[in-house]
Amino acid sequence: MQDEVTVKCEKQHTLKLSLSEFEEALEWDRCPKCGSKILEVEPDTFEVECVNCTWSEENDWQTISACLDQGCPRCGPELECDSPLHIIGSFYHKVAQYDACTNRIAATSLQRTSRADYWEVVIHFCEHKEFLSILKSGKIHACRTGLFGVPAVCFTETPLLLCEEIRRTHGDFGIAFQKSEIIRSGGNPAVYLQDSLIEAQKQMGGFCDDIKPFINILRIPSTAPKWSRKKKVDFLHEREWRVGDHVDPNTTKPLGLVFPEGKKFSGPYGSNLIEYAYKYDEIVER
Ligand SMILES: [Zn+2]
Ligand SMILES: [Zn+2]
Ligand SMILES: [Zn+2]
Repeated sequence: MQDEVTVKCEKQHTLKLSLSEFEEALEWDRCPKCGSKILEVEPDTFEVECVNCTWSEENDWQTISACLDQGCPRCGPELECDSPLHIIGSFYHKVAQYDACTNRIAATSLQRTSRADYWEVVIHFCEHKEFLSILKSGKIHACRTGLFGVPAVCFTETPLLLCEEIRRTHGDFGIAFQKSEIIRSGGNPAVYLQDSLIEAQKQMGGFCDDIKPFINILRIPSTAPKWSRKKKVDFLHEREWRVGDHVDPNTTKPLGLVFPEGKKFSGPYGSNLIEYAYKYDEIVER
């Protein structure tokens, strides 16, 4: 169904609305611009569906308006504000359908028994825009990182319920993988070595290329060499894992997606994101 509705009101406004905006206008039963009565609507039929029980009704806009008002005849009127009844094709319907169908995995179920600080999962956290581009392109892009500045994709092994600080730094959206899946793809925990150990390895001819993506300096002021500009380099708190290449979610299978609490499909990428998020489970903070 086309996501555009033309609405004319008593005061001669002609508005072009998305199906979701139209659904809002019907709930209010007024022109969204001036608050007067809606007179004409184009197209002339709409279909609503209940995502709980799949009850649906195709009819003219006045009847559809009454349906939305009364709620699903099978499930009854919803007490909560989130009604399961929406116009098919609208963003609201897609979100409700996602929420009804997606498989949720509780983060605590992935934790080691009596070890809230440990689980068998790593997460790549990123901003909204990168998240959409990953799902769209099917590729987590490797960025230059570590001591050698070679490309790698970074993950944290911090359990989800303790990721608040990391999410503030790296972004609130995440793609989670089983550690076993990352290891199978050549991934490994990042390695932190202090200057004296890096120097010792250099004496032996240096690091081989395969290891380079994982190597980082661990430096505190009392171990910092005189020549060093940065006297403290310590990223142990990131509890980082890496893969020394792009990661393709089609071959390295994600366990699920992580969304910011209550802001899953909000913002400018929301309606685009939902088209791709479908394929994955969701890891939730409980
Ligand atoms: Zn109006
Ligand atoms: Zn229903
Ligand atoms: Zn990155």
